[in-house]
Amino acid sequence: EPGSRTVTGACFSRVQPQPLLKPTFVAVSEAALALLGLNADDVLCDPHGAEYLSGSRVIPGSEPAAHCYCGHQFGHFAGQLGDGAVCYLGEVEAGAEQSSNPISTSPCGRWEIQVKGAGLTPYSRQSDGRKVLRSSIREFLCSEAMLALGIPTTRAGSLVTSDLYVQRDAFYSGNPRPERCSVVLRIAPTFIRFGSFEIFHPVDDFTGRHGPSVGRTDIRAQLLDYVIETFYPEIQRRHLDRQARNASFFREVTVRTAKLVALWQSVGFCHGVLNTDNMSILGLTIDYGPFGFMDRFDPEFVSNASDKKGRYSYEAQPYVCLWNLARLAEALGTELQSAKAGAILDEFMTIYQDCYLDIMRRKLGLLRQQEPEDVELVADLLKTMHITGADFTNTFRLLSAVSCPAGEQKDRDSTDSVVELIVEQCASLEELKVANHPTMHELEMILSMAETNPGMFNMVANQPEVAKQLEKIGRLKELLVINEVELKIKQRDHWQRWVKQYRRRLAHECDEVSDPAAVEKERVRSMNSTNPAVVLRNYIAQNAIEAAERGDFSEVQQLLKVLENPYSVSADLERPVWSAGSGSVQADGNS
Ligand code: AMP
Ligand code: MG
Ligand code: MG
Repeated sequence: EPGSRTVTGACFSRVQPQPLLKPTFVAVSEAALALLGLNADDVLCDPHGAEYLSGSRVIPGSEPAAHCYCGHQFGHFAGQLGDGAVCYLGEVEAGAEQSSNPISTSPCGRWEIQVKGAGLTPYSRQSDGRKVLRSSIREFLCSEAMLALGIPTTRAGSLVTSDLYVQRDAFYSGNPRPERCSVVLRIAPTFIRFGSFEIFHPVDDFTGRHGPSVGRTDIRAQLLDYVIETFYPEIQRRHLDRQARNASFFREVTVRTAKLVALWQSVGFCHGVLNTDNMSILGLTIDYGPFGFMDRFDPEFVSNASDKKGRYSYEAQPYVCLWNLARLAEALGTELQSAKAGAILDEFMTIYQDCYLDIMRRKLGLLRQQEPEDVELVADLLKTMHITGADFTNTFRLLSAVSCPAGEQKDRDSTDSVVELIVEQCASLEELKVANHPTMHELEMILSMAETNPGMFNMVANQPEVAKQLEKIGRLKELLVINEVELKIKQRDHWQRWVKQYRRRLAHECDEVSDPAAVEKERVRSMNSTNPAVVLRNYIAQNAIEAAERGDFSEVQQLLKVLENPYSVSADLERPVWSAGSGSVQADGNS
């Protein structure tokens, strides 16, 4: 029965997806549909294809349901959430051609399929269970783009729009008008999340809320058994002792989460809403809402316009993931000894940092022995990007043209031209002033810290958060007294200095090798297949959205093709531009 209600003693409710009016395909992902053993052309030609894949016509044998989960939203326990706009359709045996790519493989040999935007469920709360074209295009494209970048993710098989309209209020739309209801077919081994275990959350000290199934340790055991047996069969097999099995499972989730967030950082991806209900129990990227890829590198980048305090900023993501893992440990209750959980959580940052360094070294083409200075080389690169306002994606892509100092004069010339290319796309004076201008929130934070330490501003200034803001203000002061030409000179200096350090490091890669030219060739090849030429920047998604809203779906389809091959520079896409400041996006929700 649709409409908001509390669901106790159950992990899901049976529901029926609500039909769209005249569902039509906007685009399909051939690769994602192949997971289900479906051929894209057959699906597109089938007179009922769009109806089936949008849940408007229920697939024979399907037993649709909505999943009940809870979550900590922006740091606080939010009580019952659940699939408010999503409907589970069932599970499909994996197609014959299982991929060799581990992130395209299901551990249980089945794929769960869902329709997102399929109407009211018991978990819809104040909203309508629908999704509009804008948010559906973003989820559809980004799911498939992430896979192509080698990042674990839920998949999107198809995108269907319709003649059914809803209106989002100004907060979610920016431009309130009737918008077409649209449905994405989502695919994953499972969509179970950390929040799925939080339905057992006891009364929360802060909010007074509790999970709807608090105390039901029987259901908790059943859910945990199901998750481990089905999706972590090797852990189930390895352990006879339940506590040891559960600890091993929690450790695996911790490792996967650490690896996932390291991958996000490595492509400048900001999830935007890292609430515990958006954390996959399989370590997949899940729920594409107000996500964003950074243009100019800024550790404080926030992609979600409603996240005023930057809780889910780019640099906060690893810490937030750790915090979320601690909430999962709590939700597991007596299934996980707290000392054991604590010890595993203590490992998180090391696992994350090792993984991050691995990836970043690969992005820099450092393929041989790790050296102590590598950590600093990466940190200096990011700092240089930040103060010069360089484009994250394009800078990495350009670095493959830097040559090893062992090379000849022409190599040095090519290195100079890399520096010029990077400097050319660094931020203008005006952009840097804006970027270094403290926000109201930052000023309030400094003032409140100064207040809590009256008369001891120096002490406050040493607190890392304040020091960061004061540094920013210092940079702003410098920018106020120089002109555009002087800025370019400074930026060139910064880049020449870093590239010099980088070339010195690259030289070690050729130490004691018989064929340095082969090493160089391999490095360039590796860098060009590690650093994408294209990511789903906001303005790129926006162009496709605007075309689709005018009824032209070809841009979405073309963009999907480009995003499926992120390492080859495509002539279809205009030369990447460095848009002024990375805009943030509103949540798609109505949630
Ligand atoms: P999110 O911020 O996307 O993770 O969503 C938070 C909660 O809001 C979840 O319980 C969603 O199921 C619910 N929700 C999001 N969008 C809608 C919608 N259009 N209709 C009903 N519920 C929604
Ligand atoms: Mg969600
Ligand atoms: Mg969402």
